[in-house]
Amino acid sequence: MSTTEQRVAVVTGGARGIGAATAVRLAAEGRAVAVIDLDEAACKDTVEKITAAGGKAVAVGADVSDEAQVEAAVARIVAELGAPTILVNNAGVLRDNLLFKMSVSDWDTVLNVHLRGSFLMTKAVQKHMVDAGFGRVVNLSSSSALGNRGQANYSAAKAGLQGFTKTLAIELGKFGITANAVAPGFIATEMTKATADRVGMGFEDFKKAAAGAIPVQRVGEPEDIANAIAFFTGEAAGFVSGQVLYVAGGPLD
Ligand code: NAP
Repeated sequence: MSTTEQRVAVVTGGARGIGAATAVRLAAEGRAVAVIDLDEAACKDTVEKITAAGGKAVAVGADVSDEAQVEAAVARIVAELGAPTILVNNAGVLRDNLLFKMSVSDWDTVLNVHLRGSFLMTKAVQKHMVDAGFGRVVNLSSSSALGNRGQANYSAAKAGLQGFTKTLAIELGKFGITANAVAPGFIATEMTKATADRVGMGFEDFKKAAAGAIPVQRVGEPEDIANAIAFFTGEAAGFVSGQVLYVAGGPLD
């Protein structure tokens, strides 16, 4: 790649929340960005934000847990933007419940979107990274990987993504590809708002209660996570691989 050529980044779940902030941030870093989400039309706001700022982006509708849709999405990205060499596996869902009430389908949905989705996307994109001799993969883990009541499915998926990340780093390092995981704590998005709704709390009260238990005394914003992802996907981060960075306003154990 010449130094003037623009790298192509793919952000899944980019219609809103952390994915949208990440797509906007990577575009500001000079990347052309493919914004993938279940509903292509829902990516419009993110794409418009990027193009209004002079950046380049396309909206792509795909379910990351569906192999054929992933293959078609990556083929479209190659045709419309060029071969992708940056991948942020961010798409995610919650299906919280205590173990004894958790349905098999809620287990499968969460494992399929987070783990199978990240596997399928990475498998489809890595060949372009290998060809380019350069790649950056960032997987979204979570503080819940350490265990969280009501999230047997989600914590298993997020812990699984940490093992997946480390294995990618080991297998793909020799091709100039790094893989890292960002594990957010509480970030104010539709996802945490849905949790507030589920436990019957107003979102402002829910955020205030969460902030009280965080050393920096505030909840995170999507841009806090986008900032960490920008670091890991940067040209200069080629010696940082296989790491899990908790971005949670304080230490976690
Ligand atoms: P969000 O606001 O719920 O956004 C997630 C996006 O992913 C939505 O636009 C959603 O589309 C999309 N999506 C869901 N399933 C998909 C699929 N199968 N294929 C393609 N797109 C799909 O969530 P967020 O809070 O920004 O979270 C982003 C990531 O960070 C997730 O992996 C999450 O687990 C992780 N995380 C978040 C927090 C937090 O506090 N918010 C903390 C730790 C980790 P629909 O709207 O159509 O469902």
